[in-house]
Amino acid sequence: TYDYIIVGAGNAGLVLANRLTEDASTTVLVLEAGVTDENVIPVIAPFLGPSVTPDTPWDWNYTTTAQPGLDNRTYPYPRGRLLGGSSSANYMIHQYGTNEDWDRMADVSGDAGWSWNNMKQYIARHEKFVVPTNGQNVSDEFIPSLHSFTGELQVSLPVWNQTIDSRVIATTQQLAEFPYNEDISGINNDMLGIGWAQSSMVDGERASSSTSYLASANDRPNLTVLINAMVTKLLPINTPAGARTFRNVQFSDARTFSVTPSFQVQATKEVILSAGAVGTPQILQLSGIGAPADLEPLKIPVLINNTQVGKNLQDHPLLPNIFSVQGDLSLDHILRDPAQIGAAIAQWQANKTGFISNNVVNNIGFARLNASVLDQFTDPAAGPTTPHFEIIFADFWLDPVVPIPSNGSYFTILTALVTPTSRGSVAIQSTNPFDAPLINPNMLDTEFDITTMVESIKAIKRFAVAPAWDDYITGTVGTLSGTSDADLEEHARQHTTTVFHPSSTASMAAEDSNDGVVNPDLTVKGTTGLRVVDLSVFPFIPSCHPQGPVYMLAERAADLIKATH
Ligand code: FAD
Repeated sequence: TYDYIIVGAGNAGLVLANRLTEDASTTVLVLEAGVTDENVIPVIAPFLGPSVTPDTPWDWNYTTTAQPGLDNRTYPYPRGRLLGGSSSANYMIHQYGTNEDWDRMADVSGDAGWSWNNMKQYIARHEKFVVPTNGQNVSDEFIPSLHSFTGELQVSLPVWNQTIDSRVIATTQQLAEFPYNEDISGINNDMLGIGWAQSSMVDGERASSSTSYLASANDRPNLTVLINAMVTKLLPINTPAGARTFRNVQFSDARTFSVTPSFQVQATKEVILSAGAVGTPQILQLSGIGAPADLEPLKIPVLINNTQVGKNLQDHPLLPNIFSVQGDLSLDHILRDPAQIGAAIAQWQANKTGFISNNVVNNIGFARLNASVLDQFTDPAAGPTTPHFEIIFADFWLDPVVPIPSNGSYFTILTALVTPTSRGSVAIQSTNPFDAPLINPNMLDTEFDITTMVESIKAIKRFAVAPAWDDYITGTVGTLSGTSDADLEEHARQHTTTVFHPSSTASMAAEDSNDGVVNPDLTVKGTTGLRVVDLSVFPFIPSCHPQGPVYMLAERAADLIKATH
């Protein structure tokens, strides 16, 4: 037995593994279905991040259900399946959300501990900002006084410039609609405007929860991390009355894709689910914790009746908008040529330089809807300074739906909806834990969501006619050329997929509320001995790239758990 069993060595799980084993007398077992991240070049090399998924040994290789809002298309739904979880598979952009995002979580949960004023202490504990040492001038790319240089996870700035960077920044000087934001992390209570992406990387390599929190705790004798260990079910311990106690965990060898032989371990204090927004509701449902409508057809006895498990799925829809550009200054001609990519990887391996040592994206921005559009809706943002959509700049053809043409140079301005009102679900479709659950993000289901996507396209078209682009952009590509709202709606429905941010499938609600799956202290309602610590507990998806909020959540969760025992 162990004091704590953590299910999932992902973004959140490894933060807990580290913090809970700081006390040498506390024993922790982490069970991870995936493989090691050691020596996996696509995981380590920043620019190769997009090749870690989909359809690889490091991905769960899920696919969504047909999406009515997206012309009934399905699309891959990547989730990291290795040490570090999705923090080892993601695109490394690092932010913390708006103060309003956190204050809303405090309001919804009735726990002031989730408010921004309390949560920002965890940024200091978490972040280890590293200024690039390759001579880049980053003096106006971030505000040092906001950041921490002493935490666990390395966060840094671009180390290689794309052709578009200076034009993006020049546009912020030319168009008042797109102001420059000197620090886009959110720490300054200001995420609006366009700035330099901060990324979880250091010295030309990815930083994940595995390379940071696990690496610094791995030598502790009180920490055991087991890979290839697929958790198949939680089993209740007979308790005389009241809440059921779930401290037994059943797992099997993930490589066999078979539930037999199966193994059982018991936690003396708690089991903590950190299996992510797909894995966590799947395990709860397999264990009889969920909606009778989901469990009874599969003949799973309902041990805890909670209709919210797997519901309330939220994600950020992502739309590529592609422009054709002059000459061969974009990265496309390199990305089409295996010999040039090979040479760039060799350079990276030799001395960690070149574009492979850098993230795929250098600049990002956030904006709100115009008041005249917003007036038609109840504003779903957490507050008046929280953005509705994001703008992401890429120096090449970046469309997950349409492959790059064999010639031409391109500039992609992606837009993402960060305050969606559509709600989807995750539901098991069989009692076999190795069967993927049905994942229905239900994208662009609401009038607000499609209107905001259309407005985001209009915004980036205004951006692209700034003088900075006069001698660069030559035209729009494909359905982006449409001019009416109906045309742009069709463009959005045909090209939108995901920024890979599923959340909220085991939402937090107030202790006395009938809503939600977990209490404000992250214990699963109606149970003892069981908590959820991952992105699935956020009642509303954060309005930013969510790995930072996951790290903050897990840091506080460690404090809550330590205070209980
Ligand atoms: P995860 O980190 O996914 O951890 C869950 C872990 O549980 C995994 O290791 C999984 O293998 C394991 N697990 C699941 N089921 C079981 C089981 N039954 N038994 C045992 N183990 C199990 N966010 C950003 O902030 N910036 C970005 O640039 C960014 N880009 C992204 C790009 C991609 C391709 C992806 C996939 C995600 C991206 N994200 C990004 C999102 C971000 O990485 C995730 O939201 C975050 O890491 C989720 O953390 P988590 O702890 O909730 O889950």
